[in-house]
Amino acid sequence: MFKKFILLFLLLVASSSQANVRIFACEPEWAELARMLGGEQIYTATTNQQDPHHIQARPSLIAKARRADLLICTGAELEIGWLPLLLRKSGNSRIQVGQLGYFMATDHVTLLDKPTQLDRSQGDVHSSGNPHIHLDPERMLQVAKSLTETLIKIDPANQSTYQTKLESFSQAWQAMMNKWDKQIFTGKSMVVYHNSWLYLQQWLGLKKTATLEPKPGIPPTSSHLSRLLATLQQSPAQMIIYANYQDGKAANWLAQKTDIPVVALDFSPATEENLIHWFERTVNQIATVLK
Ligand SMILES: [Zn+2]
Repeated sequence: MFKKFILLFLLLVASSSQANVRIFACEPEWAELARMLGGEQIYTATTNQQDPHHIQARPSLIAKARRADLLICTGAELEIGWLPLLLRKSGNSRIQVGQLGYFMATDHVTLLDKPTQLDRSQGDVHSSGNPHIHLDPERMLQVAKSLTETLIKIDPANQSTYQTKLESFSQAWQAMMNKWDKQIFTGKSMVVYHNSWLYLQQWLGLKKTATLEPKPGIPPTSSHLSRLLATLQQSPAQMIIYANYQDGKAANWLAQKTDIPVVALDFSPATEENLIHWFERTVNQIATVLK
């Protein structure tokens, strides 16, 4: 009788187990994707007010990384300035390179703009290609599938939950993608701060005509800006966009001089903002300017 009771108890525990994966997400988009895919214990290392290229591997981050079962980051060298140190200091073997708990989103998609020649005099170039993939809904869907596979490998007891979550996410995401009339965007030109919007550009058919950074990672200089001003006075763009974590001074100065509308966008979801909500909000902001 007692043995039977124990067995029943174990079965109940196994079938109703909660998601038991402690997740450390480098950027809010991965935290929110993981949440939609069934992740529950999620720590987000950065907010959308921080530049993911430049984060400090501070003790509180290291402590969180020490306890994580799964690390989800962008990869492709976006976090090269802080993640290797964080991993080393964490002393956590589960999330080291090559382990099951080391998940880099960019490892699961193809990247654009991979430089054929690496020349550091060209600025802070991303040598594995442009890592800013989270604004491409197609690639996000691919990452979602791979992330689900990883969650199942780490937490097989909840396989069916993860599969169901992936299905409902894919449907909602696809429905969101189908909502846009891409004609609003096709061929429209824009000036950007950093090459952060490449994948969104491609998906919407937008055209980037200039960058406020003279070289990747180098803040706008006055000589570069006056050159840009001259170019834009000749052939104006339809908008100037930058991420809220970037300094808006240059963008706003240029907007004032040229009368081109300027848009400040959240490059990542706000704290615990639904991923779909954030994506729609971002595309809507662009659409409003172009209409
Ligand atoms: Zn970048």
